[in-house]
Amino acid sequence: MKKFTLIAFTATFLVIVTTFILINIIRGNKNISIYKQEKPSCLNCNVIFISFDTLRADNVGLYGYEKKTTPNIDKFAKEGIVFTNTISVAPWTLPATMSWFTGVYPSQHKILNKFTLTSTGEEKISNLKNLSPNLKTLTEVLEENDYKTGGFTGGAGVHHKFGFNQGFDIYVDDQDFAGFNYTMPKALNWIKDNSNRKIFVFLHGYDIHGQYVPEGGYDYRFVDFDYKGSLTGSKQEQKELREEGIRKGKIFLTNNDVKYLTALYDEKISRADQQFENFLNEYQKLGLMNKTIFILTSDHGEELYEHSRIDHGHSLYEELINVPLIIIYPGIIEKKIIHSQVRSIDIMPTIMDLLGIKLNEEVTQQMASTSLIPLIQGKKLSLDAFPETDYRYSIFLRALRTPDNWKLIQNLESKTEEVYKLNKDSQEKNNQIGNKQTELLRQKLNSHINRIIRN
Ligand SMILES: [Zn+2]
Repeated sequence: MKKFTLIAFTATFLVIVTTFILINIIRGNKNISIYKQEKPSCLNCNVIFISFDTLRADNVGLYGYEKKTTPNIDKFAKEGIVFTNTISVAPWTLPATMSWFTGVYPSQHKILNKFTLTSTGEEKISNLKNLSPNLKTLTEVLEENDYKTGGFTGGAGVHHKFGFNQGFDIYVDDQDFAGFNYTMPKALNWIKDNSNRKIFVFLHGYDIHGQYVPEGGYDYRFVDFDYKGSLTGSKQEQKELREEGIRKGKIFLTNNDVKYLTALYDEKISRADQQFENFLNEYQKLGLMNKTIFILTSDHGEELYEHSRIDHGHSLYEELINVPLIIIYPGIIEKKIIHSQVRSIDIMPTIMDLLGIKLNEEVTQQMASTSLIPLIQGKKLSLDAFPETDYRYSIFLRALRTPDNWKLIQNLESKTEEVYKLNKDSQEKNNQIGNKQTELLRQKLNSHINRIIRN
């Protein structure tokens, strides 16, 4: 009897322990294998691709910012897939935006600068058709798949003269540095006119950019101290400080100057967030939400004196390449936060994959990027990011950022290098060049550069 009790007790104990272990295995791995989702898709859906120009990820509420800059984006993102570690391939508008549309690195699409020097030394406007006639854009592929395509932009760095209008039925860019108050009403009118078609909308605004000041001026909603310095947050001032930074390598600002400029930057984010909410409310009235994919992102961030300068384009530090990325599509089973490193060039193949568009060999070969759908399904992807910038004929930088947080930046002009371990030094202040990782990182970056130049 005693023996039987002992066996029963042992058996019960084993069942409990096994169940406990199994539950934990299931819990711990739910994003890896056991609960792998069906492949998400949204066939024939509308695509609304919104670029909040110059929005760095860490000033966005859902990315952990302490100020309430983005309550509306935060609320909307709750329904979607949030990527917390998205690296833009370039820290300024032209190359970064063109990489969204081509799925390749700036060195590959060749829109590296506003002007390109010809073999005779002549300066010509950089244009995609001229420089890379064989590249097919995201818009062109969608157009071939019966999409009506509309681009509503703030002009300047996304002007059609660079080739951004390739594949668009309509492309608005007639006001330089226009904000969402200009582009969103135009987009909504066009959407209403085409509501019986499947549509692709590229919606862009410079609301957060240094060359934009809110309509009616600042209301200083985030200035919570008595600022006694000389800065005003004007476009001219931003331009002068940016140029001084490029010329001298650094500028001098006091802590309060930086606090003040940051508060003005945050106000612009908050106002763009309100514009987004207004757009969403109007779009919802059209009854198209259940067949629309939303992509919310930014082309690059903004330096707020982390490395002694302001503005963007001039470096590959985190504040300029970390951007938000939120993807929302109908029927998302569970909202998800994905921490794996992804790249801005991955957006094009991801959209194609979500829409179930079969790509021909040529476009498949073209893209140096990968669909992020496997990550959403819970699979693993280990993606190196290779941001680059050529800026003003004086700054030429190439970088590698690995999924395990190593970063190498090469300055092609001065032939200097910087190495950072980002999870220990997120501010990139402690250059670890010479660390045993250096050679490995260098080999990886050099082979990437050779590969993309050869292509
Ligand atoms: Zn930009």
